[in-house]
Order: sequence, then structure tokens, then C-alpha cells
Amino acid sequence: MRYYDRLIFELSRPGRSGYSLPGGGESVNFEGGLWRESSLVLPEVSEVDVVRHYTNLSQMNFGVDTGFYPLGSCTMKYNPKINEEIVPAFNALHPLQPESTVQGAREVLDFMDKALAEITGMKHFTFLPCAGAHGELTGLMLMREYHFSRGDTARTKIIVPDSAHGTNPASAAVCGLDVVVVKSRPDGLVDVEDLKPLLGPDIAGIMMTNPNTLGLFERDIKEIAALVHECGGLLYYDGANMNPLLGVVRPGDMGFDIMHLNLHKTFSTPHGGGGPGSGPVGVAEKLVPFLEKPRVSGFHGNFGVILRACAYILSLGRENIKLAGRLSTLAANYVKESLKDCYKLPIGTVCKHEFVFDGLSEPNGVSTLDVAKRLLDYGFHAPTIYFPLLFHQAIMIEPTETESLQTLDAFIEAMRSIAEEAKRDPELLHSAPHNAPIGRPDETTAARQPVLKYSAE
Ligand SMILES: *Cc1c(COP(=O)(O)O)cnc(C)c1O
Repeated sequence: MRYYDRLIFELSRPGRSGYSLPGGGESVNFEGGLWRESSLVLPEVSEVDVVRHYTNLSQMNFGVDTGFYPLGSCTMKYNPKINEEIVPAFNALHPLQPESTVQGAREVLDFMDKALAEITGMKHFTFLPCAGAHGELTGLMLMREYHFSRGDTARTKIIVPDSAHGTNPASAAVCGLDVVVVKSRPDGLVDVEDLKPLLGPDIAGIMMTNPNTLGLFERDIKEIAALVHECGGLLYYDGANMNPLLGVVRPGDMGFDIMHLNLHKTFSTPHGGGGPGSGPVGVAEKLVPFLEKPRVSGFHGNFGVILRACAYILSLGRENIKLAGRLSTLAANYVKESLKDCYKLPIGTVCKHEFVFDGLSEPNGVSTLDVAKRLLDYGFHAPTIYFPLLFHQAIMIEPTETESLQTLDAFIEAMRSIAEEAKRDPELLHSAPHNAPIGRPDETTAARQPVLKYSAE
């Protein structure tokens, strides 16, 4: 371990300090009962130690700005810096400011409502939700209100494909709906024959992603929409990863009634580690009365993220935004075709923005986890692994439209080298990563019993 990779507490020496203040300082007398019972343990370090500690910590991070980040279902695309530069101009906004002083912000929201409506084929959007899952819950609540307003209270079930993103069934459950799973066919698409018997007067609707979580376009969407509408249900579109459709197809035209977008994914905001996000929900005309009123008012979720998306859309422009979908699809198919001789490709059809391998073609005892860990040694972020659950050794790759051919080729070369290493020296992969500050933490313990603070003992 390098000396400055230590915790700041381990660098601490009694009496060392990083500042000097004039005068003797003052003590304050608190009321009884407020005093600590034990002394406060704080690191005692010099300024240079603090600077090195935080600078080194910042460099342990891997981000889109440091390298290729093909994390499937997450759209870790490059976020142009101009989007960041716009935001400080609006930093001082407060939701309780007089309306006459926030007309610029209202214009941004109004523009975004129109732009997203045009991109998606929805009628109007609400910008309140602060993430994709938040949007799902909002959209499902709109769906429920729509049915209730018609006196239709028996619709308590929602259909979700088995390939769905985990937040879909979770949001439905939080909304009090019972989840009914519709199966995928071996080609990865929703099985319409399995769907038909599920439809009836108790179905509130269906939640779908298109292209689905396997990166495949649901070609039967028109028939599915007709069937669900016929039974009185609505179609919810999970538009978290809209990239491949930008300027190509619109969920509204496919028959969807309600949808959310992840502005932080598709419309370029740095995200990860839980935020920041924005999950505006769009609805078809018949659902507009159920949106909050007034739609353009004071409290609008993560306004900074909406601004970045606005800058992104305006700087690309109507014509260039149409390239995003095509390029993200091209990049994914290029990587898929270049690697399918050494990684198992369970579904070989043309994919959209992402696709899934099922581990190495010749694993030789090497797991998907080993491949992912070894990629870190090559300087790439690992793809999404072990999701979706349809395949045991899933490796889900989403290159995005922002990567050059040379970067994609370098990634392909690394993946091919790893496949070679698996044949030659599987132990090298079992013990990877070899160049990262942390190797293989016990992920279960780290998630269930995290140690989040330093203990002086
Ligand atoms: C990321 C994602 C979500 C959830 O979005 P959050 O902003 O993380 O809540 C939902 N569905 C799909 C398909 C996603 O990729």
C-alpha cells in the first residue's frame, strides 16, 4: 500500500495541525446535558497531509472523465462540459422567489416540456420526479388515478416482463399494485401468447422498456399496445435509456400512454452513486388532467439536471440529436460482433444500445466476475454483470454513442486478451485486479454490514 492510501486517521499524529488562528480562542458554556461523554476523535494532520489525502482519494475514482465506462442499463456517456457551464448562472434560484424574477427558469421548463414532448410523442411532462424510479412511481400513481377517476377500481395488477429493470416491479409494489410477470421468448422479446391470458378487467396496465433490458427492440409492440388497450389497461414506458430511439422512433407512436425519461442518463448529466437525477414523466393527452397543477411552477425537482439536459438538446440541435440513437446502436453492435467468437452470445440478433453476453465461450473456470475484475487492470470500468437475471454469467455492455472507434477497439482488444488469459492462466483472472487500490471486497458484507466510520479502537 502506498503511504498516502492510508486513512486520514492513520496519518494523524497528536498535536499536529493544519491551521493557525490568531488569539487564544474562546470557550462556550453549553447547558448541562449537552457535553460529550467521551472526547471527540478527529484526525490531527498538517495541511499537506490533508491536500494529499483528498487529492489521492479523488484519483481513486473511476469516472466517465477518466475512461471508458460501458456499464449496461446505465448510459454512462460522456457529458459535454458546456452543460456544466450553464448551470452556475441559475445557482441562486429559490423556489419561493417572486414569479416575475424566475421567468428565465420558467422558459427553460416550458422549452423542455415542448422538446421532450416532440422527442417522445407524449403530450406534456412533469419535471417533479428526481430519478427514474421516482418517475416510475409518479407515472404509476397517474395510471391509478386515471382508472379511479373512471370508477374503475378493480384494476390492481400490473404486468411486468421478466427481463424488466428491477425498479419496475419495485415501483409497482410501492404503488400498491400486484405484479404479474409476463415471460420472454427464447429470442428475448415479450411472449405475446403468454401475455394474452393475463389480460382482463383487473389489469391496470403494463410496464415496458423498448428496447428492452437485453437491448432488443420489441417488434410486437403495436400488437401488445392494442391488446392492453383493448382490455382497458394503459401502457407505461420506462424510458431511462432512450438513447437508441432518439430521433428514430417515439414511444407515443408505439402506443405508450405514460413514460419517464432519465435526463441524467439519456440527456447527459454526470451521475452514479445515487445521484443527481431527474425523471420527468410524460403523458398522452387523455392523462394530462392528472398531472400536477400548475405544471410550470415553483418546485421543480432537480432543476440543475433539467438545465443540463436543456443545454444538451440545444447544443446538439434537431438534426444531430437524431445521430445519437443511430450511433449508440452502431457502437453496441460493433462491440458485440467483434467479441462474439470469444464470449457467449445467447441472443444474436441486431441489438439496440446494449447487449448481453453469457460469460466466456471457453470459461476454463473463469467467471464473469473474474473478467470484470481483470478489465480494471486494463483501465476500463467493468460492464454491468449478473444482470439481467435471465443468464447466469450475464455481462451487459452499453458503449454509448460518445466513444470513438479507437476507444471501442481498445476495449475489444482488452476483452480479447482476457479471453486468451482465461485459456492460458486462469489464476491470473481469479486474483484480479492486480493494479487497483482495492481488490475484491466481500460485497455481501460490504452491502449488509458496511463499516462507515472509523473506530478509534
Ligand atoms: C437506471 C434505470 C432505472 C432507474 O433509474 P434511477 O434514476 O436509477 O432511479 C429504471 N429503468 C431502467 C431501464 C434503468 O436503466
